Formats: sequence, C-alpha cells, structure tokens
Amino acid sequence: MMGSGMRFRAMVAAVGMLFLAVTVDAVAETKVNSVRLWRAPDNTRLVFDLTGPVQHSVFTLTSPDRLVIDINGATLGAPLNVNASNTPITAMRSAQRTPTDLRVVIDLKKAVTPKSFTLAPNAQYGNRLVVDLFDNAADAAPIPPPTNVATVAPVPVTPVDPPVKLPPAPAGKRDIIVVIDAGHGGEDPGASGSRGQREKDVVLAIARELQRQVNGMKGFRAELTRTGDYFIPLRGRTEIARKKGADLFVSIHADAAPSAAAFGASVFALSDRGATSETARWLADSENRSDLIGGAGNVSLDDKDRMLAGVLLDLSMTASLTSSLNVGQKVLSNIGRVTPLHKQRVEQAGFMVLKSPDIPSILVETGFISNANEASKLAASSHQQALARSISSGVRQFFQQNPPPGTYIAWLRDSGKIAQGPRDHRVNPGETLAMIAVRYQVSPATLRSANNLKSDELKIGQTLTIPGTELASKE
Ligand SMILES: [Zn+2]
Repeated sequence: MMGSGMRFRAMVAAVGMLFLAVTVDAVAETKVNSVRLWRAPDNTRLVFDLTGPVQHSVFTLTSPDRLVIDINGATLGAPLNVNASNTPITAMRSAQRTPTDLRVVIDLKKAVTPKSFTLAPNAQYGNRLVVDLFDNAADAAPIPPPTNVATVAPVPVTPVDPPVKLPPAPAGKRDIIVVIDAGHGGEDPGASGSRGQREKDVVLAIARELQRQVNGMKGFRAELTRTGDYFIPLRGRTEIARKKGADLFVSIHADAAPSAAAFGASVFALSDRGATSETARWLADSENRSDLIGGAGNVSLDDKDRMLAGVLLDLSMTASLTSSLNVGQKVLSNIGRVTPLHKQRVEQAGFMVLKSPDIPSILVETGFISNANEASKLAASSHQQALARSISSGVRQFFQQNPPPGTYIAWLRDSGKIAQGPRDHRVNPGETLAMIAVRYQVSPATLRSANNLKSDELKIGQTLTIPGTELASKE
C-alpha cells in the first residue's frame, strides 16, 4: 500500500518539473540519469530513469550476442552503472550517435528475448524506459535470482511447534499446498516507512519465515510466488498459485495511510459484491495500481476483465469465498494475539491479486509501515516470526477443519487423529444422537452431558454443542 498524500505531493512535484522542462528549457533533450537492474528467475529487468519522455527502439545482434537500445531525443546525464552479476549481461556501453540520439549497447553471455516499454511518472519515479531481457527457453539452467542480503533480514532458527504424536502417514496422501505471495518487489517498492523500511523487503522476510514454518507442519508444503527482489505482475502471481496446485493463496502486504497514526493489521478476502467499506475500496484501488507501477504495460482491470471476473465469480466463487472468509477469520484472530488489529473482522475488497475464484485466497496487511512504531516492529525479525506464526496457526486450524480430500490432513481428520475445538451442530431431519456422535467421533454420553440432555430425543433445528475431541489441542 502507498499513501495517497505522498502520491499527491509527488505528482505536484512531477507536474512542476514538466512545466519547467516545457517552458524554460524547451530545446534541451531528455537526460538518462541512471539505470537500475532486477533479476527474476527467468528474466532481467533494466529500468532507465529519464528526465522526460523518449522514443526508443530495441534490437539484438549475434556473434557476439548484444542488445542495442536506441533512445531518441536523449543524452546521457550520468554514467550508467549496474551490478550485473548473476545476469546474462557482461557489459554496458553507450555512445551519442547524434547530438540527440543515445545508443546503449549491452554485451551478453547468451542470447535473450527483449521486450520494452516506457512508463509515465508515478509517486516514486519519473519517466522510465523498461527493457526486459527474457532468458531463452533453450537455456536449461536458470540463473538464480540474487539474494539481496542488505534488505532481507536473516531468519534465525526458532523453535518449531511442539511435536505432536502422529500416526504413520499412509502412502499416497498428498500435502496441502499453501502458496505465499510477498507483495510488490523490484521496481515496485510498495509502501515505505519513515526510516526507509520498504514494504517489498519486509513482506518478503515475513513470507520466507511463513514458508519455513508451514514446511515444518506435517502434511503441508509452502511455495513462494517470488523468492527475491523482483516484480511479478498481479496476474502472474495467481498463475503461479494455479501451476503449483495451491489449496490456499496468502498474499502478504504492509499498509500505509495518509495519517501516520493509523496502525494495526487487517485481513482481506475477495468480495463478490464490492468492498465492505470505503477503506477496503481505496486499498484495493491502490494495491491494484501497483500492476502499473511494476510495468505490466497495460491496465489490469478493463471492462472485459470485469465481466469475465463476474461470470467466474457467479459460477464458482461462493464456495471458495466462504473458505476465504473462514481462513481469513482464523488468521485474523491469531494475528490479534501478536499485534493490534486495524479491523476486527475480515474485510472484503476486490483485490486483483485475490481474483482466483477456484483457490481460497486472503490478503494480510501485516501492519502500517507508515506508522513509525509499527514500521520498526515490522522490520524486526522477532515480530516477523510472530506474525508468520499467527498466520501459519490460522492456516493450520482452517485446514484441520476443512481438509481437501486426498490429503494427509484429511486422512488424519477422518481417522480421528486431529483435535478439534467445540463446534455447533444444527439437528437435521432424521438425525439421532447416536448418528451425530458417530459423525463427530465423540461418545453419546459426552454429547448428552455437554448439552445437559435428559433424554436422547432431539428436535429438528435444535443446536447441539459438539465438545472438542479428547486429543489435547495446542491451539
Ligand atoms: Zn502492498
């Protein structure tokens, strides 16, 4: 999330600069002032920072492999320096072909497929030229993304959950897959704190810790959408979730608000009927805009998408929305034990990143990075661990009650090995006390005493309390 006040001021500044450029300095060309680089698992993104708009063209040359970027109407404002280790780039040179046309030549270890586009100024940056160098599919071994040691807090070893006595797992029972999405990344830093804390770094650290914890839970496996400091368009994130066969998608963010006093964590689930509150609508707008900041190159939500989304939602959303709200509520109540809550219930908003109707999805705003106190907490590894612990606990509680068929957790539940807290049961026509006792794997005597029943006669619609199962629960 980003603060609108900040964005507004930045826009005013940008407009002011434009005005100067046009009226006072009309004949001067755009300057290329710097280049930034992000390495993703399958591509390298170069972002040239410009003082104004440019025309450009990109082409490749072979023997040796090179990429040529012609930037028309521009001169070099400062030397171009990037750290290109772990990328296909070996060197970068530039020359002024004419007084107004700049050529940048990139020497390559191997051929790449380039894609380029320009971006208009936004809250963080001015005009930019983005050149993506996609690794060619033939290159079998992908170059690993750089691990940005400076911005990612090391994850110290913490005690895992106390061991639970579990029966041996039967063969062929699959793990529940949780896909964890660290918001923003690369060119899109997300919100920022007063001491330079950046949302993209904080949420990656929390996501990594959450992955570690979930992988420590038997019957669960966690995957990350991004593993380093690079941008993935919002649609790409849910696509990854689908490819990994996600049973749950958890997107991790940190909030910002125009008021520095705003604080607390929130949990969002996708709404099929608009946002539950103005705040939710505003949040969804800003988060969705990051697709543009990150430079996916086109608008994320055009009318066609809205219609398609609507149809998909009508067809299949109800079940997973209910699940999303359910898992969201469990995560929220666990988070409430480690940090103040911004809202006491799960908010609903139309986040693009949650538009995955077939996969229950939640978005966790872990706190306000715009609040100085919460920003320093969010950057502390002990707090990151506590947040991750509360999310993993909520996820485990949800799946212990709602395990997908064919999973190890479903097998555990069906063989009565999972402890459960008290639940309510509404008596259906034809149900007897004995049937209900069997269904919940408690004894009829336990049901009788838990509900102060004098006889075994039940009324249709009567609500029974199902006591927790005898196996001690650590929740
Ligand atoms: Zn965010």
